[in-house]
Amino acid sequence: MRKPIIAGNWKMNNTIEQSKRLVKELIPLIKDAKVDVVLCPSYLSLQEVKNLVKDTSVKVGAQNMHFEKSGAYTGEVSGEMLKELEIEYVIIGHSERRQYFNETDETVNRKVKKALELNLIPIICVGETLEEREQGKARSIVTSQVEAALKDLSNKEIAQLVIAYEPIWAIGTGKTASSQDANEVCSWIRDKVNQLADVHVAQNIRIQYGGSVKPNNIKELMEQPHIDGALVGGASLKVDQFSAIVNY
Ligand code: PEP
Repeated sequence: MRKPIIAGNWKMNNTIEQSKRLVKELIPLIKDAKVDVVLCPSYLSLQEVKNLVKDTSVKVGAQNMHFEKSGAYTGEVSGEMLKELEIEYVIIGHSERRQYFNETDETVNRKVKKALELNLIPIICVGETLEEREQGKARSIVTSQVEAALKDLSNKEIAQLVIAYEPIWAIGTGKTASSQDANEVCSWIRDKVNQLADVHVAQNIRIQYGGSVKPNNIKELMEQPHIDGALVGGASLKVDQFSAIVNY
């Protein structure tokens, strides 16, 4: 059985004070959660959020990391720095990073390898654009992103990962993929993992859906056999919405 995992990607939102307030309000509302919950605030808020969830089952993730340990990479943060804060997860290859910050399949793969080396669990994001979907290329795009992200990983390493299917046209647009379409792509991802690792790993890897997940669509998404959770953007900034999603 795969335990569902619901992560909130706060993106470039919430000051440290706002982050603290959000977490303090959220914790009592999700204390009986039956899913794994991961909060991904900005780097600046990681320490405070980590302190506030200390005695709970809530985990903390970063939204990105560099693949080098240290060096002349102005403005970047390394996995080693995240480890010092005892962060457990890291989002890698979010479409906004690919679109605005020149993230490529190759850098995604390097970051995934580095995160695994440090025992950080990568949440690897993949997804197609609307144009690619309309051209019937969704399967080839998404599976090639998975293949590139997992390049040269061992069976054991692949078993640690979380993959998030996030169709780019559904992120922050209010448009959700139908639960059937989302499930179909997640099944393609699982098939691809099955080609790259053994069947046991493919059956156990957790695949999230992301893209305008809200309290009113989470249940139907989670009923799909290949969807094991959600990566939530906008709705993770609102305590009532995120807690309703977690407690679906
Ligand atoms: C995201 O950015 O990962 C995301 C899914 O955003 P939203 O839920 O706002 O569509």
